[in-house]
Amino acid sequence: EVRVRYAPSPTGLQHIGGVRTALFNYFFARANGGKFILRVEDTDQERYSDESLQDLYDTLSWLGISWDEGPIVGGPCGPYIQSERFELYKKYAEQLVRDGKAYYCYCSSERLEQLRSEQQAAKSEQQGYDRHCRTLTDEQRSAYERQGIKPVIRLKVPLDGKTTFHDVLMGDITRRNRDVSPDPVLLKSDGFPTYHLANVIDDHMMGITHIMRAQEWIPSGPLHILLYEAFGWEPPLYCHLPMVMGKDGQKLSKRHGSTSVRDFREKGYLPEALMNYVSLVGWSYDGQREFFSKQDLEQLFCLEKINKAPGVFDYKKLDWFNGQYIRQKDDAELSLLLLPYLEKAGFVSLPLTETQQERLSSLVPAVKERMKVLSDVVELSRFLFEEPNLCDPSAFCGKGVDLPTTFTALEKAYAILRNGLETGLEDSIIESQLVDLATSMEIKVNGVFMPIRVAITGSSVSLPLFDSIRLLGQGKTFDRIEKALA
Ligand code: GLU
Repeated sequence: EVRVRYAPSPTGLQHIGGVRTALFNYFFARANGGKFILRVEDTDQERYSDESLQDLYDTLSWLGISWDEGPIVGGPCGPYIQSERFELYKKYAEQLVRDGKAYYCYCSSERLEQLRSEQQAAKSEQQGYDRHCRTLTDEQRSAYERQGIKPVIRLKVPLDGKTTFHDVLMGDITRRNRDVSPDPVLLKSDGFPTYHLANVIDDHMMGITHIMRAQEWIPSGPLHILLYEAFGWEPPLYCHLPMVMGKDGQKLSKRHGSTSVRDFREKGYLPEALMNYVSLVGWSYDGQREFFSKQDLEQLFCLEKINKAPGVFDYKKLDWFNGQYIRQKDDAELSLLLLPYLEKAGFVSLPLTETQQERLSSLVPAVKERMKVLSDVVELSRFLFEEPNLCDPSAFCGKGVDLPTTFTALEKAYAILRNGLETGLEDSIIESQLVDLATSMEIKVNGVFMPIRVAITGSSVSLPLFDSIRLLGQGKTFDRIEKALA
């Protein structure tokens, strides 16, 4: 049975890279009828935060990703939070010492610090721990114990030979043992495990069959294999996922834009869109198809289609996907999704009055085509809830049209518009009369439309003109134009 896990450390908000790892594991489990396990790796107490843990749960539930075993739901290999498993790590670390695969080290932090600066000063090839305690005699050890020094436990990395680990994507990766970190700490003196120890023990005890994780863990691969060997356990299969990078080829980071899922969520990305797009960063089905629902991915996901090359996270492409998913929503659902944004902007408050309800129902179809993210509704609809307030008359001018001409155009356009609307002319006819006006005044079309748009909405980017007028109502539309002309 396939058993995979997502094992984040709750030391920050869930970001795109992490969520992609979670999704790939989840889809792989579903596609193979296996189990998806969530494990919280909270051994770094200094960087741990409750907020991060809550964010992990919120993010997965927003995406609709449930776990078969893990915190909250439990399961046969629990607990699934590492800080609740410290006894186990201690027991296994001590067993390694008894088996001669690990040893107690009493070196003080001062000694290690000293060693480090000596190595640096001498530009010595040997870096890291000098294995001082690896060969202590029993007497030496008892002497340290009598002084009350609490030891750490270090792995005895073999001094020669090589270690190979196999990665499904990258093939065999081989390191000389002497290049593996010299005898890394497994258990700290306060009884806390290090990442390596806890991670390997848990993957084994939880019966994990495949490890899909970020490529930045490849350097830890040989060490993990050595740990499996020391325990006499069979390692799982590894598949390190290609890096997620920005368009400039650098690892995706805040420099490129939002990276936390919470940010995307707040801006109004839909979970379906984010999930669909993120799944295509470093994976593809046939290189062509772009739209995948969660259900599709639960069936179609496979390791063979993961790319070796880093995946590019393209914010524009995500916007495009999001727009597509917004347009697929029916109006009723979309208006529920938009409400929180309108509320936060102070445009409406709950419960909606009947007029507000009606206004919302006519607003939704008009904005639907224009939104990339749900929060776009705020700027697109501001004119309905607030009076435009423009101090600078030049804001009315289309490109290359001067102020006096602009206001002459607005005055004439107003007459056309008012007459057209009041006599019930079709939009397209009024529109062509406005175009004719521009022609006769020898200005660009925008020189006529811009001042109308700005007078009505207070903004140069807005909904299509006749949609805006319908939403605002003729009375208010005329008032605003007159105010602009006054
Ligand atoms: N806690 C590690 C992380 O947050 C897990 C790495 C792994 O999957 O082994 O990246």
